Amino acid sequence: MSNQHEYSFFHSVEKSFDKASKFTKWEKGLLEQIKACNSVYSMRFPVKMDDGTIEVIEAYRVQHSQHKSPCKGGIRFSEAVNQDEVMALASLMTYKCAIVNVPFGGAKGGIKINPRQRSVYELEKITRRYTSELVKKNFIGPGIDVPAPDYGTGEREMAWIVDTYSSLKPGEIDAAGCVTGKPISQGGVRGRKEATGLGVFFGIREVCNMPDVMKRLGLSVGVEGKSVVVQGLGNVGYHCAKFFREHGSKVVAIAEFEGAIFNEDGLNEEEVFQHRKATGSILNFPGATNLANSGLALELDCDILIPAALENVINGSNANNVKAKIIGEAANGPLTPEADDVMAQKGILVVPDMYLNAGGVTVSYFEWLKNLSHVRYGRLEKRFTENMNTNILEQIENLTGKTVADNERRIIMHGAEEVDLVHSGLEETMIGATREIMEIWNNNPEIPDMRTAAYVCAINKVGTTYAELGIFP
Ligand code: GLU
Repeated sequence: MSNQHEYSFFHSVEKSFDKASKFTKWEKGLLEQIKACNSVYSMRFPVKMDDGTIEVIEAYRVQHSQHKSPCKGGIRFSEAVNQDEVMALASLMTYKCAIVNVPFGGAKGGIKINPRQRSVYELEKITRRYTSELVKKNFIGPGIDVPAPDYGTGEREMAWIVDTYSSLKPGEIDAAGCVTGKPISQGGVRGRKEATGLGVFFGIREVCNMPDVMKRLGLSVGVEGKSVVVQGLGNVGYHCAKFFREHGSKVVAIAEFEGAIFNEDGLNEEEVFQHRKATGSILNFPGATNLANSGLALELDCDILIPAALENVINGSNANNVKAKIIGEAANGPLTPEADDVMAQKGILVVPDMYLNAGGVTVSYFEWLKNLSHVRYGRLEKRFTENMNTNILEQIENLTGKTVADNERRIIMHGAEEVDLVHSGLEETMIGATREIMEIWNNNPEIPDMRTAAYVCAINKVGTTYAELGIFP
């Protein structure tokens, strides 16, 4: 994919930023500061592999902005990792956090390895060594920089990170907050795993519930009955497909790097996932047609296209073939600036990555708060709420002489558990951000697309913080 870059990824982000900055009030110098990557740590370290050979690993951590502390952003394991990519992704994190009012600066990490070609033991050694390199340079900590999962990493890697960090920082009471996306047993929060996919769903559902936007696109209001194509069946793609399907949309195609499958009656992501696990490929799924190549999935006729894999997959060479009405950027940077221009001309609505996939970092924020407060969400109030609801219900039953049915009783009485609160916080965040960005776009007819409106929103928030910091005497 990287050979299709029209620009470097970081340059693409800068280009989108510049396109938006003219709609803001900030002076040039301040805009330059918002755009710049503050700290770039490029490292090389040796790891002894299972066969006894020593390999030098290339890795990065970039802190794009410290206008708020700590910095926040995932760590990816991929052979395509390079400094430019990590810088771009760190920048997007700053803007993403600003839009959803998560009080962090942006950061990102990357290790240039193919995790599928490594043993679990090798991955553990690489992850632990990377963490100790971060500790040595003061590039990690609950108040400094807090990594999380990204492409090619998950709970397992986060558990290794928190364990390595804690062992190097004995007695640090908030050590669990040095990384998010951890397993529950290591201080994780319920609801983090599905957070990005669920956030994408909430964001797109909100857009689909806007009658004026749907009218412009020639679509009916609501997600029900809409056809959806998902590229990528990793954690994000899987959960996007799941929530769209559960809310009445039809996931007509799923693409992975080995190929893509299509079924106009809809696919079940869990069955596809199990099929891939058993056969090693998404292809030949019962009842579905194989597409000649994976990229063709992006060009299918559908209502909603969800690229949930890597950057630059829709670019100058294929943008003209896209037939979707809405593109929901679940991945970071799936469209190049050229592709953006084509979509704007064609009237295709691009719902931009830097807020649409912010569900992950939003719930990471909840996890970090949980780690600092050392208490599970809902622990204090759940029973109180249930007792209160029972009392109210009994009063109503006594006064009316009627009895509420058992299933209704359970719903009414239920006191919020951790996962309920996390999902509710996420829903509120995604709905709020969607409306805020749409309002900026609606209020300025000169703003060409939703991405630019999202950048305007982000630049204004980061700009306000910098300006109020008074760091430019
Ligand atoms: N890697 C995710 C992202 O790109 C999550 C980052 C986080 O939770 O800090 O937004």
